[in-house]
Amino acid sequence: MEPSRSAQLEAWLRYADELGLGPFDLSRPSEQAPWGSPGAGTPVEAPAPPVPPPSVGEKAPRAPVPPASPRAVVSALFPVVSGPSLFEERVDNDTLERIRSDIGPGCTRCKLHRGRKNIVFGVGDSKAELVFVGEGPGHEEDLQAEPFVGRAGKLLTQMIEAMGLRRPDVYICNVVKCRPPENRLPEKDEIATCSPYLIRQLDVIKPKVICCLGACSAQTLLNTTQGISRYRGEWFDYRGAKLMATYHPAYLLRNPAAKSEVWKDLQKIMAVLGLQPKRR
Ligand code: URA
Repeated sequence: MEPSRSAQLEAWLRYADELGLGPFDLSRPSEQAPWGSPGAGTPVEAPAPPVPPPSVGEKAPRAPVPPASPRAVVSALFPVVSGPSLFEERVDNDTLERIRSDIGPGCTRCKLHRGRKNIVFGVGDSKAELVFVGEGPGHEEDLQAEPFVGRAGKLLTQMIEAMGLRRPDVYICNVVKCRPPENRLPEKDEIATCSPYLIRQLDVIKPKVICCLGACSAQTLLNTTQGISRYRGEWFDYRGAKLMATYHPAYLLRNPAAKSEVWKDLQKIMAVLGLQPKRR
């Protein structure tokens, strides 16, 4: 196999692994998670040693920006996905309304349009201090045109409430705005096409904290192919915001024992935002 193909394959295998399609990284829960119940008797494996957090800077090569798809400015110390940079410059006077209108009513920029019912743009407070970024809409989200309203979404809502917030207090969106068929992972070309809109959303909202739910959003915003278990729970700088990746709620549905790890991550976010956990 060509070296570039084999590197690509390796990156995707690692990516699938991090999304729960391969061996799981399960560490022992040290405390009861506040939503649902962690599974009992889960095999324990030593967690991977933490990698030093990369500093995500403001400098990147300038490239011509097509009007509908400007890109953010990020560089990471992680190995980057090969191909053109996802990241370009900010749009002046941008708004969420303008981004939605730039996407258009019937976007056909990538192949995901073929199976979708609705474009799922994002929901919540346009001035939120906390933004959750998932991967892409599932069946329910596609039907309701709202992110995280299915089973994983209900768990996310519980997590948000455990943090002492309500869903309308935060902003919730995804890397790709249209449902991948059979809930498969978004593909590289789909992410490359759609993520500029996510990056514009984040630029407009300017949250204090971005919480990446799962590997897809973490790898997209950190411009890395590294598995999420390597840097989950670590802080990164993303264009002035603090970014943390944690496991996706869908992963937690399959692996409830990992809820306590996620709760530790959410507690770090709460500390930054000065939030008190909801009294139960
Ligand atoms: N999973 C995601 O990543 N996003 C959603 O909106 C729903 C499920």
